[in-house]
Amino acid sequence: MTIVTRFAPSPTGRLHVGNIRTALHNWLWARVNGGRFLLRIDDTDAARSEERFVEAIRTDLAWLGLAPDDEVRQSARFALYEERFDALVAAGRIYPAYETQAELDLKRKVLLGRGMPPVYDRAALRLSDDDRARFEEEGVRPHWRFRLEHDRPIEWDDLIRGPQHFDPATMSDPVVRRADGSWLYMLPSAIDDIDLGITHVVRGEDHVSNTALQLQMFDAMGASPPAFAHEALLTGAEGKLSKRLGSLSVDHFREVGIEPAAVRSLLARIGTSEPVEPHVEVQPLIDSFDFVHFGRAPARFDESELSGLNARIVHQLDFDSVRDRLPAGMTEAAWTAVRPNLHSVGEAADWWGVIEGPVAPPAFDDETRAYLAKAADAARSLDWVGDPWHALTGALKERTGRKGKALFLPLRQALTARDQGPDMALVLPLIGERRAIERLSVAAGI
Ligand code: GLU
Repeated sequence: MTIVTRFAPSPTGRLHVGNIRTALHNWLWARVNGGRFLLRIDDTDAARSEERFVEAIRTDLAWLGLAPDDEVRQSARFALYEERFDALVAAGRIYPAYETQAELDLKRKVLLGRGMPPVYDRAALRLSDDDRARFEEEGVRPHWRFRLEHDRPIEWDDLIRGPQHFDPATMSDPVVRRADGSWLYMLPSAIDDIDLGITHVVRGEDHVSNTALQLQMFDAMGASPPAFAHEALLTGAEGKLSKRLGSLSVDHFREVGIEPAAVRSLLARIGTSEPVEPHVEVQPLIDSFDFVHFGRAPARFDESELSGLNARIVHQLDFDSVRDRLPAGMTEAAWTAVRPNLHSVGEAADWWGVIEGPVAPPAFDDETRAYLAKAADAARSLDWVGDPWHALTGALKERTGRKGKALFLPLRQALTARDQGPDMALVLPLIGERRAIERLSVAAGI
């Protein structure tokens, strides 16, 4: 059996970190099994769906390295929904209901007031043909409900949550279609999962009760259901469901210099028993992915953990994978020199600026200037071909008796105008003889 998963966003906004995690897990599970990963655009709601968000979803998935094997759009599949709908109406599993929203709200209130669950009373099922004809005559268009079978408990073995049990008698028959003919999410999703041969539905635990309803839809359509994995939701670093998570988009990550590999590495592992590790390549994440590792507790997403992970990813990136994001002229040696000091690839440009100059070193006191004058002098008679930094500091140590910070810091400050940074043994050859002598001389005031 080929494993088929799907990621089914509604194109009503940008993907946020929660959606991205769902997409990643679906993608990983398909890859684990040599299966297929589909992108299903849930755009039945024409008023709220926007083409620019469809584009953004594709771009974001591509940036994350989660390209789908195929893409389908619900808006192109209405004929199929219509056909299945008609069959379910004919079979008595979908029925028309004529209550207004105000009437439904009132019924709910009354039940809640009596301390009872606000389950729809199925009044529409008791209408006679005459009642219905009267509504139609009055121009009242029905909405449509799926009739749950009450005499069979709903059960499934969730790949993350374990055995699940729902009593359908405690649930309202879900509205599947509005009076204007438009579709609600529930039925088209079940139809597509059947039609596209989806074997595993991986989604957030906010969909658990939808699954209970959809299981009866699969059954009513004569299909065996896919397996389900409902993941605990993401919370912010402080452990609460946070609004901020909803605004953390791929755009945001890109803007602050986060690598796709960092996003993948974090989102593949938080909420699981596996350690969060910086994986540039996706294969280790595929190899270790399994629903058995997932816990029931909410997964904590911490932006500072992502930044830390990002730095550890950047430290592993080779020149070829970043060269088109580096400033023009920046060499492989320069990348290798500055890489351990970066939190993001973008910061490499700052260090390239330091290497190329000009730099504005601090003002030094007389004693330090005298020391730097000796440094400029030593730099003139240095062998610049080998290891100029060790040659320079070795000569100065001998000439001045300085050591440690007193020996190194003024040189670093004069040469880079920074108090810290990459290994000077790698940086000095990049600054080169001419610029180094000039910087030391300027700092010495000579
Ligand atoms: N469009 C639905 C959502 O974003 C899809 C849910 C599902 O995976 O079935 O919530």
